[in-house]
Amino acid sequence: MIAFVVNSGSSSIKWELLDVDSGERMRGGIVERIGENGVDHAGAMRVILEELGGGHPDVIGHRVVHGGSRFTTATIVTDEVERAIEELSALAPLHNPANLLGIRAAREAFPGVPNVAVFDTAFHQSIGPAAYTYAIDSAVAEEHGVRRYGFHGTSYQFVSARAAELLGRPLDELRLIVLHLGNGASACAIDGGRSVDTSMGLTPLEGLVMGTRSGDIDAGILFHLGRAGYSLADLDALLNRRSGLTGLAGGNDMRDVLAGVDAGDAASILAFDVYVHRLRRYIGAYLATLGGVDAIVFTAGVGENAARVREAALAGMEWAGIRLDGERNAVRGTTVVSADDSPVAVLVVPTNEELEIARQAAALV
Ligand code: ADP
Repeated sequence: MIAFVVNSGSSSIKWELLDVDSGERMRGGIVERIGENGVDHAGAMRVILEELGGGHPDVIGHRVVHGGSRFTTATIVTDEVERAIEELSALAPLHNPANLLGIRAAREAFPGVPNVAVFDTAFHQSIGPAAYTYAIDSAVAEEHGVRRYGFHGTSYQFVSARAAELLGRPLDELRLIVLHLGNGASACAIDGGRSVDTSMGLTPLEGLVMGTRSGDIDAGILFHLGRAGYSLADLDALLNRRSGLTGLAGGNDMRDVLAGVDAGDAASILAFDVYVHRLRRYIGAYLATLGGVDAIVFTAGVGENAARVREAALAGMEWAGIRLDGERNAVRGTTVVSADDSPVAVLVVPTNEELEIARQAAALV
């Protein structure tokens, strides 16, 4: 079965053609600068269609950012599903409309091929009310759909299944803490293959320190800055684009922060310390939520590559049965980085969201 995976953003469409059975990526590419030079999403999709040489996939999988409370699993796209995704745009104004343009363009360019929407939020619909409810006026929350939804769900599904494989144990017996540390970063507590808590919330702004986003802050900061003259747009830009590693150290790339730490740059050292402190706080919270853990799993750009972040995140946690093997951890490409006698396994598992989307789409048709 051949799957065509589409990640449609506002100005680009990333795509991959995958053999679902072998997991092999056959082709892939990105069409950029959509919206410039009169090229729209439909035009971009025709360019991709040409690159595919007229060959038709068996199924098309679409990354859709927000599925709200409505989508708990990947779903075959119908007109009604399109409408629902559109309605959910209020919760993800930058993403859902762009995802939808990709879906419409694919349905038009590949008539007769089933389209499947795979939602970043769906995996987290198993989270219970105690963890997804914000303690605000419940009528307000209800009216505006304010609750924790969580993101990176596709990555968590892929990585948790792979972790179970590596551990040689059934996923439904495992308690996992998965740390997806990319430019956007989040943490997830997974019990028996089900998400029971995650650090991102209504939007991807909450939780860990990220490349350009603040993660957790006191909401009172917004009022404080608002009274000082900051507009909503100013605050949005501040917290989403000028915060996190960028806000503290001047750039969003962990490699640069680490170089700064080595050079003794005070801002980089603080950024690293704040990043790690937040990460450890979530690890501690999820240890409590899960009542112990079988494995801690690092994934995405920072999680897969930054040995020093892994080391600092788990330092001194022997009391919880977490023992990193310093040498293994330092060698890139090593999967099991805990010591042989560590009760808790520590794994580095490269994520593959495209393959997970392809698998979920294929499973539905
Ligand atoms: P995205 O969230 O955009 O998918 P990725 O998962 O690709 O991001 O992660 C990108 C980030 O990974 C980069 O911004 C960088 O901070 C980090 N990264 C990549 N390689 C390394 C490395 N060798 N050491 C430390 N950090 C790295």
